[in-house]
Amino acid sequence: MEQLLRQVDPDVADILDRELDRQQHSLIMIPSENYASRAVMAATGSIMTNKYAEGYPGARYYHGCEFVDQVENLAIERARALFGVDHANVQPVSGTQANMSVYYALLEPGDTVLAMALDQGGHLSHGNRANFSGRTYRFVPYGVDCGTEQIDYDRLAEFAREYKPKLLLVGASAYPRTLDFVRFREIADSVGAYLLADIAHIAGLIAAGEHPSPAPYADVITSTTHKTLRGPRGAIILCRQGLAKAIDKAVFPGVQAGPLMHVIAAKAVMFKEAMSPEFKAYQRQVVLNARALAETFLTRGFRLVSGGTDTHLMLVDVSKQGLTGKHAADLLREANIITNFNTIPYDSQPPTQGSGIRPGSPALTSRGMGEAEMAQIANWIADVLEQPDDSVLRMRIRDEVIALCSRFPIYDYMAREGEYV
Ligand code: PLP
Repeated sequence: MEQLLRQVDPDVADILDRELDRQQHSLIMIPSENYASRAVMAATGSIMTNKYAEGYPGARYYHGCEFVDQVENLAIERARALFGVDHANVQPVSGTQANMSVYYALLEPGDTVLAMALDQGGHLSHGNRANFSGRTYRFVPYGVDCGTEQIDYDRLAEFAREYKPKLLLVGASAYPRTLDFVRFREIADSVGAYLLADIAHIAGLIAAGEHPSPAPYADVITSTTHKTLRGPRGAIILCRQGLAKAIDKAVFPGVQAGPLMHVIAAKAVMFKEAMSPEFKAYQRQVVLNARALAETFLTRGFRLVSGGTDTHLMLVDVSKQGLTGKHAADLLREANIITNFNTIPYDSQPPTQGSGIRPGSPALTSRGMGEAEMAQIANWIADVLEQPDDSVLRMRIRDEVIALCSRFPIYDYMAREGEYV
């Protein structure tokens, strides 16, 4: 495959080679990124990219769908089994479009939704004014307690009584603590609201039993498939039977037309992988590795938002070191350590700078790294951030990072040669 691409389009082949090199020789600590398996990539790059299949299995608007029907049914059955839900829609092409579909199914324009504020850990598609969601619906943001930096459920309950939302949204992009879905359900019930759980970040942990599942409590669940779940880029919507029709109608024809059947095939592969004992062990290690990173940061005198982590990610406050999050991530980038900057709750910095970085363990763990490597990496990060003027130190650490990366190839075949498919 690699040779064919090189023959047809050497320009793209060269760019892919450089991206492969980047992924292999840097420490990817962005918590929403991961390395999909070769099997997942094989399905993503498969023949099913050629097929139009508007509609659902058995009820398509195109002929020739017998095999895409089989693969979509397989993906649906596996998603239902993995998460223990009545119904799964595997067609959303992204997490944002999955959320858009749920709003479209359950709300009318102008309806009130309670969701976590973007600058406190929420996501753009949870009502930010720059996003369609914030323009179409009346999102009221809730935050974390300024002392504990965790969700204050009693205050949230009062908030819900005050605003009487039609939908309560639980789920975040930068919240390092366990979410109490039971409490969220109680609060939603107290005001007669739907409960939507957006588990984009923690879906893999949930599938493996490393985080409680919202399945018994939420009316609808959305998730991306490419973060901790380690599948292809895309998303899913899970719900109870009573909402299945409304959700399916909202996805197609509501907000999407032709589904990406090659990606749905890859989602089916990912669900199979996610049912394996190896996946369970992987998610356990993701959590242990995040904890090891957090402990080393604390030992080195860094402040962590909420004091630590229960999940795959943490927020490191770098303001005490005299840095913004953006500056910190730029410095780490020079040492081939890739993190993203983030606001922290009640941040004095604008979102373009932030006071924090948001490191996570999923991609490093996929490479086979363990707690010893996490301690080493957190120490490198601390060294870089404590001496921001020392470019020689960053170059020395970059060499050490590259040496560590060589011991943990991102794909086993990397150990043999640079071949990406
Ligand atoms: N929901 C949450 C909680 C997320 O963190 C993200 C992505 O980071 C999304 C939704 C959106 O996913 P996508 O980037 O696929 O639109």
